[in-house]
Amino acid sequence: MNQIYLDYNSTTPVSNTVLERMLPYFTEKFGNASSHTHSQGWIARKAVETATSNITKHLGIDDSELVFTSGSTESINLAIKGVFEKYQQKGKHFITTQIEHKAVLDSFQAIEKKGAEVTYLRVNKEGQIDLSELEKNLRSDTVLVSIMLANNETGIINDIQRVAELVHRNNSIFMSDITQVVGKQMIDINGLGIDLAPISAHKFYGPKGIGALYVRRRGPRVSLEEQMSGGGHQRERRSGTLNVPGIIGLSEAFNYSKSYDISFIKEIRDCFENELKRSFDIQIVGESMDRLPNTSQVIFNGIKAEKLISKCPGLCLSSGSACTSANPEPSHVLLGMGYLKEEALGAIRFSFGKFNQLREVKKIIEQLKTGIDQII
Ligand code: PLP
Repeated sequence: MNQIYLDYNSTTPVSNTVLERMLPYFTEKFGNASSHTHSQGWIARKAVETATSNITKHLGIDDSELVFTSGSTESINLAIKGVFEKYQQKGKHFITTQIEHKAVLDSFQAIEKKGAEVTYLRVNKEGQIDLSELEKNLRSDTVLVSIMLANNETGIINDIQRVAELVHRNNSIFMSDITQVVGKQMIDINGLGIDLAPISAHKFYGPKGIGALYVRRRGPRVSLEEQMSGGGHQRERRSGTLNVPGIIGLSEAFNYSKSYDISFIKEIRDCFENELKRSFDIQIVGESMDRLPNTSQVIFNGIKAEKLISKCPGLCLSSGSACTSANPEPSHVLLGMGYLKEEALGAIRFSFGKFNQLREVKKIIEQLKTGIDQII
């Protein structure tokens, strides 16, 4: 059966142009970028330098502000745990929201076990924090505030510039998880006032297992305690042999993201949402908000998402809920936004991408109709 892939926020296929540029670095140009004594090492080092400059040009940052990692989960761990360990003198208080990605929430839980105090801000039904509540919670010992730029389940984009201003006025560090935004729209890291930001290649047609952490060095510089020891690579922020093909792939993914027009993906998403509203009893989460152009979080009222997904084998979908044994857990994002447990259990995330087509919308709606007819 020809399946329709609707889970691009989870991961994307590697684009052919990205793959082609990576391949020589597995075989004939296989050198270790840290080998200084022979040409294989120099070739690898040069390739890494060129790729780094390309990535930093796209992000408007300095080459020295990029630390390569295995992806956003590692970048987030490095940022939160690295700052916690480095800034013990300043304090142990941290602030985040209840609807961050699990990599952020679990990293905060890990430092809580080591004595950190973390404030988890509430959000409203539109996924927004109350700025006055942030202001009230900022303290002289607040080291870092972490608020994502766009939510991976709902696609809602936060106005983080105001947040960054408040955080900086308090002399605290501001991290924003930009993982879902990179490759989908331009991000002005400096203009937004971000000090730390994780990125991940597989979210925008690059390979899995490579990402980076942006670490501010201009203006008030951010320091980190490295979490991976051994050799002092990358200015002692992350040791380990560089993943040269991955770094080439990350750089090429940035080029690829500029090579096509994302507005056609928004057109498919919008057409899909209009058809859905005509056909089913649904709610679109954050419909009136600024959202990622490819994402639609839909609550099917009175329906269990896991069941509906199982009745639609022709669609690759994500419910946003984590399956623990037989019982799916409702999404912490929707619960955090104030949706009821039954509503959260009825949520499916549709995330469109480069290889979807407008004519697929009709097929998706038909399959959902068939699925729902089998359930009710
Ligand atoms: N942060 C957000 C917002 C994400 O969507 C994801 C991936 O789902 C991650 C972090 C983790 O990224 P990675 O798969 O690169 O570890």
